[in-house]
Amino acid sequence: MILASVEYAAPQSLDEAVALLKKNTGARILGGGHSLLTEMKLQRISPPMLVDLRNIQALRGIARRSDGGLRIGAMTTLVEIAQEKDIQERYAALAEAAKSTSDPQIRNCSTLGGNLAYGDPAADLPAALLVFEATLNIFALRGTRTIRVDEFIAQSLKTGLATDEIITSFDLASVAVSTDSAYEKITNRATGGAICGVAVNVMRASDGTLGACRVAVTGATKHAMRLPAVEAALKGKQPTAETLAAADWVGEEQNFISDLASSAEYRAHLTRVLTKRALTRAIARAKVLPS
Ligand SMILES: Cc1cc2nc3c(=O)[nH]c(=O)nc-3n(C[C@H](O)[C@H](O)[C@H](O)COP(=O)(O)OP(=O)(O)OC[C@H]3O[C@@H](n4cnc5c(N)ncnc54)[C@H](O)[C@@H]3O)c2cc1C
Repeated sequence: MILASVEYAAPQSLDEAVALLKKNTGARILGGGHSLLTEMKLQRISPPMLVDLRNIQALRGIARRSDGGLRIGAMTTLVEIAQEKDIQERYAALAEAAKSTSDPQIRNCSTLGGNLAYGDPAADLPAALLVFEATLNIFALRGTRTIRVDEFIAQSLKTGLATDEIITSFDLASVAVSTDSAYEKITNRATGGAICGVAVNVMRASDGTLGACRVAVTGATKHAMRLPAVEAALKGKQPTAETLAAADWVGEEQNFISDLASSAEYRAHLTRVLTKRALTRAIARAKVLPS
């Protein structure tokens, strides 16, 4: 399918970008283009202008924050996330989720901002951002705002971003040395996305028990979400086979989706299996420090 004719602008600054979005009704932000251009080729949308963020340097890069956490620019590509040593070592689930996406061409161009903003329930990165309790920084001419990733994902089904708002970066909190994480996925071979993906982030106390644990699923439910009952069942327990069996509770709590790729029952089964696999890897990697 041939793209319809469209105006194109590649501003150098955020101010310029939001001014263009405001002035040109219906204009759309262009990140890596993998989803937006596909939508346009399929003639689902026909924006009059694309505002490409590629020249805005403030939206790029991965940097440690003064509190030990991490800031990732919204235009950072998935390959940059997958290959960044600091992310591999401290936020392994995020590196693994980025690495699990489709193929090199997709990873080379797709951006973290686009992956979240597009709101695809089968996207991999949202689950990993959920277990690190990431926050999004969002810019508009009227000011900036910050929103937790769980709130953003839940809202994006209804309201999402205003048309003149740009995600600028993602902040991840600092992680303790006794913490580790993992991401497991069953791929939809037709699309590359997740039929089911599970991210976990676990902390080990000095006696080996599990401290705060975060578990999130994507692809299997209407949008990526934490699994609080599973998290609660793990906290304070020794990581035995019986403890990990707590993941079985999840099937009773969530509304899994059913489509051509998989039934809801199979997605519930995958969620249990992948939760255990991800927990097993993360628990084995998390250091037990002497008190
Ligand atoms: C064949 C194929 C396979 C894929 N496989 C996977 C997979 O396995 N796992 C996975 O997670 N994803 C997958 N994707 C999705 C892909 O990785 C990208 O995440 C997705 O295309 C969106 O990112 P993008 O940078 O290309 O954004 P774009 O396509 O440029 O934009 C997507 C949407 O986000 C908006 N947007 C972009 N950047 C911003 C910003 N900074 N602020 C506000 N709004 C913004 C755009 O206006 C648009 O509405 C696949 C895509 C394709 C085409």
